[in-house]
Amino acid sequence: IVGAGPAGCFAGKILAARGLRVAIVEEHSEVGKPACCTGIVGASGLGELGIKPGKWVLGKLRRAKIYPPSNVPIELTRGKVEALVIDRVKFDRSLADAAVKAGADLVLNKRCVDIAFNDGPMVKTQDVDKLKARVVIGADGPLSVVARKSGLLVSNEYIKCAQVEAEADLDNGVAEIYLDNNFSPGFFSWMVKAGRVARVGLGAKSGNPTRLFKKFLSEHPVASKKVGKTIFSRCTGVIPKCMSRKIQKGAVLLVGDAAGQVKPLTGGGIYIGLSCAKLAAEAVINALESGRMEELECYQEAVMKKFGTEFSVGIQIKKLFDQMSNEDLNFLSTFLMDEEVRETVLKNFDFDHHEKLIIALVAKAPELLKSIGIRRALKYFKFLT
Ligand SMILES: Cc1cc2nc3c(=O)[nH]c(=O)nc-3n(C[C@H](O)[C@H](O)[C@H](O)COP(=O)(O)OP(=O)(O)OC[C@H]3O[C@@H](n4cnc5c(N)ncnc54)[C@H](O)[C@@H]3O)c2cc1C
Repeated sequence: IVGAGPAGCFAGKILAARGLRVAIVEEHSEVGKPACCTGIVGASGLGELGIKPGKWVLGKLRRAKIYPPSNVPIELTRGKVEALVIDRVKFDRSLADAAVKAGADLVLNKRCVDIAFNDGPMVKTQDVDKLKARVVIGADGPLSVVARKSGLLVSNEYIKCAQVEAEADLDNGVAEIYLDNNFSPGFFSWMVKAGRVARVGLGAKSGNPTRLFKKFLSEHPVASKKVGKTIFSRCTGVIPKCMSRKIQKGAVLLVGDAAGQVKPLTGGGIYIGLSCAKLAAEAVINALESGRMEELECYQEAVMKKFGTEFSVGIQIKKLFDQMSNEDLNFLSTFLMDEEVRETVLKNFDFDHHEKLIIALVAKAPELLKSIGIRRALKYFKFLT
């Protein structure tokens, strides 16, 4: 396994617990560092994967507050805990510890620089070591060497992000989302409490994220007044485009960000990456235990069965959002103020599976189309095609 992030460690734990010989190769000297992540993860998703909340939980989210470009906020809540804010360093380490406890070897300070295919795949590292394996899992994050060197990278598109940990005038338990193309074109900005600090971040499809973020912190009419001057840490990172890679070739499988396994609308990849890592591990177990390596091809099918609808529906809706002007975003936000639409949203929202909500809203489309008006409806329809 290349990469000791959440996806790599989770796959490693499952495989080692089954008695297979596993090495997890990590380029850094410690697991979890450096981390550039807000750490919001659905409470039910972790439960589904059997991961019990530990000392890495920093906060619990019950509410979302969305600021459209008009800055008239829309608040959504069902009163229950929807997601956790986690300490990524501690979380990643707890998954690595579990993998080691199950019998995996964790090899730190080893960077994979190439994958060779002779008689099966081989991981080449920077110090000219070669690790031969029956199966290689690329869990090496958004800029995956394994994806590139195995010819699995389909598109090089990323959301570029910048984030700080800072003091901010922000309630506990709320995630604030800011939509405005002047600050975060093609994505959004956010703010959430993580223990005693706030994580404030911005993602953009185009432009320089650091410059846009500086502008957001100093000029955004609402956010600039909430974030204090004391900055405790800064980072930049990228989120891969959903499904921008093939995920299997022979005995090489990709998982997590390396595989482009992120939510199409928000870029969140912790839950989906862990979930797909489990599916990859199951395919590897079936292949190695039966001796039928073609069982590895079931991995792609399993991922599409679980997330195919979410990926395809989400990608279409993201395409629509990408082309919306600030005026369109303001117009759209007025729908969320409609009682019936709010009810549909609250009834069908699932933090880890967005397709249920999108499908419920599409079912309401005939009524929405009436209020959108035919000209606007045609314009949005054109965005989708
Ligand atoms: C600013 C920002 C905020 C985010 N916020 C959220 C959020 O709130 N919720 C959410 O769900 N997702 C969030 N994400 C996405 C989330 O961070 C990723 O989806 C998640 O970390 C993916 O896990 P992973 O294990 O696939 O990869 P990573 O966490 O990237 O782990 C990859 C590991 O591989 C190692 N590695 C890389 N290359 C090599 C190599 N060549 N050789 C050896 N080792 C290597 C790395 O050092 C790292 O340890 C955010 C991303 C960004 C950029």
